[in-house]
Amino acid sequence: MTSAKRAITLVQYGVAEVLEESRDVVRSPSTVLAIPSVIRLRRYVRRPRAHPIPFNRRNVLRRDAFVCQYCGAHDELTIDHVYPRSRGGRHGWENVVTACRGCNQRKGSRTPDEAGMTLRLPPRAPSFGFYAYGQFAQMREGWSKYIGEAR
Ligand SMILES: [Zn+2]
Repeated sequence: MTSAKRAITLVQYGVAEVLEESRDVVRSPSTVLAIPSVIRLRRYVRRPRAHPIPFNRRNVLRRDAFVCQYCGAHDELTIDHVYPRSRGGRHGWENVVTACRGCNQRKGSRTPDEAGMTLRLPPRAPSFGFYAYGQFAQMREGWSKYIGEAR
């Protein structure tokens, strides 16, 4: 149990956030504050943070350098769910790879193990640096008129 005064202080300093307010209030000459009945300490709160790089088809292809992660082909690239979606596989960085159409069809709704196929690399969320490099290359053209071409 936390005292009402302590709870209000924790909330005021941003250490805790109010989950529920009680009907009780404390009054000062200038304010009326509802006394929190349930607070949560922020520092213990783990919020799922969105990955800074948007998860979409284009970025999956970029992460995988436009290479089929099963056979190394560069053409007819599709997105494959390593653990099939039809069986509950997630639609996210760690379960999605670039696959050519042939490999995707061959694999079907099986895992790589079941299909006897090997991934070149386990899929992971790309690092921010990797992404920023790509962005930089794109932006460079736009900047060049302001900063002049480097050499
Ligand atoms: Zn392939």
